[in-house]
Amino acid sequence: MTPQPPNKTAKVYLGLGGNQGDVTANFLAVAASLKQSPVISWLRASSIYHSKPWGAGEHDLSAQADYLNQVVEIETELSPTALLQSTQTLELLAGRDSNAERWAARPLDIDILLYSDKEISLPQLTIPHPRMCERAFVLVPLLELDAALNGPGRKSFTVALKRLYLQYPDARPEKAAKANAQYAQGVSSQT
Ligand code: AMP
Repeated sequence: MTPQPPNKTAKVYLGLGGNQGDVTANFLAVAASLKQSPVISWLRASSIYHSKPWGAGEHDLSAQADYLNQVVEIETELSPTALLQSTQTLELLAGRDSNAERWAARPLDIDILLYSDKEISLPQLTIPHPRMCERAFVLVPLLELDAALNGPGRKSFTVALKRLYLQYPDARPEKAAKANAQYAQGVSSQT
């Protein structure tokens, strides 16, 4: 049998979100799980931000709790689809109902934002994440991790964020003080 060449390591950014239950505990569980994985190297996590739910068109989300969001940076040899399987397992472990409506409140959502500078278009997976440049709650923590980061084709996330702020001047994610304190305490007890 011909030996397979090892997969190249990819730098990956994951967008985490949630607005149901103890979302910070869910973010901590994701960090713990990624740190323990033999096929993933944990690099770092952004601050946690909070913002109002939005983007559901005719559906009224005003009764939903604010979202918490964070971006984490990892390296992995997992293929994009294998990584999606892992992130979907983490969502289910956090109690995510895979049959819930798209705009329903959720304890944990994990989006694969970037996978090195790859562009992927599969039925179940699009990378870069197709809506990341419409979401300040993704771009702000992403740019906190790397202010000079560009997408494939040198797409500027800073320019995308400036455009969003012009369009939606009130939709600015803010750092969530209580969640960040809880996260810092939780992370300090992780190996
Ligand atoms: P969501 O409601 O955001 O959790 O959407 C989940 C669905 O989006 C799943 O069925 C995924 O197969 C699909 N999907 C497409 N592209 C991505 C991506 N880059 N990251 C995560 N899920 C994705």
